[in-house]
Amino acid sequence: MSRITRRSWAEPYKIKMVEPLLRTTRSHRAKAMADAGYNTFLLHSDDVYIDLLTDSGTSAMSDNQWAGMMLGDEAYSGSRNFYHLEENVRQYYGYKYLIPTHQGRGAEHLLSRILIRPGMFVPGNMYFTTTRLHQELAGGTFVDVIIDEAHDPASLHPFKGNVDLGKLEDLIRRVGPDKIPYVSVAATVNMAGGQPVSMENMREVRSLCDRHGLKIYLDATRAIENAWLIKCREEGFAHRSVADILRELCSLTDGCTMSGKKDLLVNIGGFLALNDPAVFEEARSLVVVYEGMHTYGGLAGRDMEAMARGLVEAVQDDHIAARVGQVEYLGNRLLEYDIPIVRPIGGHAIFLDARGFYPHLEQDLFPAQTLAAEIYLDSGIRSMERGIVSAGRDEKTGQHRYPRLELVRLTIPRRVYTQAHLDVTVESVVTVFDERHKVKGLHMTFEPKYLRFFQSRFAPVSG
Ligand SMILES: *Cc1c(COP(=O)(O)O)cnc(C)c1O
Repeated sequence: MSRITRRSWAEPYKIKMVEPLLRTTRSHRAKAMADAGYNTFLLHSDDVYIDLLTDSGTSAMSDNQWAGMMLGDEAYSGSRNFYHLEENVRQYYGYKYLIPTHQGRGAEHLLSRILIRPGMFVPGNMYFTTTRLHQELAGGTFVDVIIDEAHDPASLHPFKGNVDLGKLEDLIRRVGPDKIPYVSVAATVNMAGGQPVSMENMREVRSLCDRHGLKIYLDATRAIENAWLIKCREEGFAHRSVADILRELCSLTDGCTMSGKKDLLVNIGGFLALNDPAVFEEARSLVVVYEGMHTYGGLAGRDMEAMARGLVEAVQDDHIAARVGQVEYLGNRLLEYDIPIVRPIGGHAIFLDARGFYPHLEQDLFPAQTLAAEIYLDSGIRSMERGIVSAGRDEKTGQHRYPRLELVRLTIPRRVYTQAHLDVTVESVVTVFDERHKVKGLHMTFEPKYLRFFQSRFAPVSG
């Protein structure tokens, strides 16, 4: 009998090219953090050691994708790379029509403009920053219809991204289906901690929407990770491939907006994919105004080729197992030290519960913003706030929105960091946790008009 009872997974690739990382001193970081107004978005990346700000556009491309970059067909119109992307989107997501956009928010802009009229309500399973803002700029009001468990960082519900059918039905009854342009479903739900929706829930949402003649548009940004979590957590899916589950998930919706910068392993790119020929016609006409011709949508041919190839790699079970496996590794190591994190562990990031770090800080002292700054000061590791700063101000009252979740996101770029980098991250987070009592919070010194988390500035509370 062998003494080994299990086989670890390992990354299904090897490293061919490296980029040096710079370690900095505490005093260097203190200056950099002050210069950046205690906002990790405003740091220079040269001052960052391990960059867990986002998994957006930060993936490592494969040799095959880089080879594709050399095959960019930079024709103004009708680029062969567009047709390749269109073919792959049809095959793996299953939608009929494709409009490339420079990134996800370009697609959100087009969809919101086409379908939302002032006075309408857009139900969604928790908001995403750019998605909600585009809905609001088009005159709509976002209505959160996610299940209550999503707002509870301690709930172990396996599908915290699920739509609460009761909440959705209430809204339909209250405002009438004519006032609902579509139901906006994200898979996975970023702001809830990368939490998935279940196939069962999606089927129920579909049948409720069919009864009322409502469309469903998917935010497919991390739908491949959602498909993997369905495979792992939902009964009856263990034997099916991620590609197969993804197809079924998308088949329950009428189209999607997509940020290729996440699942699709590229540094830039996105698309709008549709089944409705009338919406497609309008989007094809509008994309020319805001992004570019409908066969490039603000992307170079080479970018579309990299995304077409990235898509094929992204749906491989081996890839996605290692990608989510890395996230789980980081989360499980933090749990060994009783660090408060959102559970279950999601698909793309670990979310630290800043309220659990700093129960002594009022939400007006920006506990998550503070925690992100403390981690950077300790080790040069960059994370991001997902709490009161990201939630922004209420459209009507102008007051802060006070979300229940006050989180810091440690986001894992795909195929970029090793297990040793994650170990260093664990050591830093535990150090900051052990010194949590010393921390006094921040106050805001500058606030921009839109999506304030990107550019607002802070200073430490003294005394
Ligand atoms: C990143 C993201 C978007 C917006 O995509 P961009 O490519 O950044 O414009 C939309 N929805 C979700 C869930 C995202 O994570």
